[in-house]
Amino acid sequence: MLVSAKEMLQKAKAGHYAVGQFNINNLEWTKAALLAAEECKSPIILGVSEGAGKYMTGYKTVVGMVNGMLEEMKPTVPVALHLDHGSYEGCMKCIEAGFSSIMFDGSHYPIEENIAKTKELVSICAEKGMSLEAEVGSIGGEEDGVIGAGEVADPKECKAIADLGVTMLAAGIGNIHGKYPENWAGLSFETLDAIQALTGDMPLVLHGGTGIPEDMIKKAINLGVAKINVNTECQLSFAAATREYVEAGKDLQGKGFDPRKLLMPGQEAIKATVIEKMKLFGSAGKA
Ligand SMILES: [Zn+2]
Repeated sequence: MLVSAKEMLQKAKAGHYAVGQFNINNLEWTKAALLAAEECKSPIILGVSEGAGKYMTGYKTVVGMVNGMLEEMKPTVPVALHLDHGSYEGCMKCIEAGFSSIMFDGSHYPIEENIAKTKELVSICAEKGMSLEAEVGSIGGEEDGVIGAGEVADPKECKAIADLGVTMLAAGIGNIHGKYPENWAGLSFETLDAIQALTGDMPLVLHGGTGIPEDMIKKAINLGVAKINVNTECQLSFAAATREYVEAGKDLQGKGFDPRKLLMPGQEAIKATVIEKMKLFGSAGKA
């Protein structure tokens, strides 16, 4: 059964490790992530962007697929299904479809409006036993066509949103979605430190986990980051493994064109990436 991300993230924050959110795009992605979590005995958050939800024909399909896998695969680790960067309307749809967690990205609204909408969602999620992630200060890079510039959040605004009773808080600390540019300035640990000082036990979320050097990841976890989002890295592993299979001409040998064979190296590559991240984040063995 799907669970809210609340308990796993509070444990992570207290235990100084982070739980990975791995974004899914299809059945292979989901299966790879769940197999990795079970193998590592790690809690896991499956992330779904609005674009990925649409690609999979809608949130109800996603919920049906994930619930089906939980029933068939019987993982022993906690699994949350989370909407990534949801609009207000997207959040409402996922609540109805049966997600166990949502992120409301109100970072593009003026802070007052972000607060008002977040407040409303806090009460709905509390009633349903769901976890809610809020965002302050947009994350740089591109996410489903929304482009930000590597912004840094205002710690006081973070405190205002945290006090509304959200489960976890995403704050811009110079992180970027997608591949990091050569001239990237790095994470702002001063900002992260200031945010954690004001928000206390609140699990903090680091978006754009792909390409952040390992020492920075570890430092961020020490400074209160308890959830790290990984998306691009799994896409790159999947693409590279699939390319290798096709370039080696394996799809032309025997039944190599069978989708279950053609997609297998990509699936294995995603699984390996997820396992590597779980070990780096320290969540392996924590479930
Ligand atoms: Zn993000």
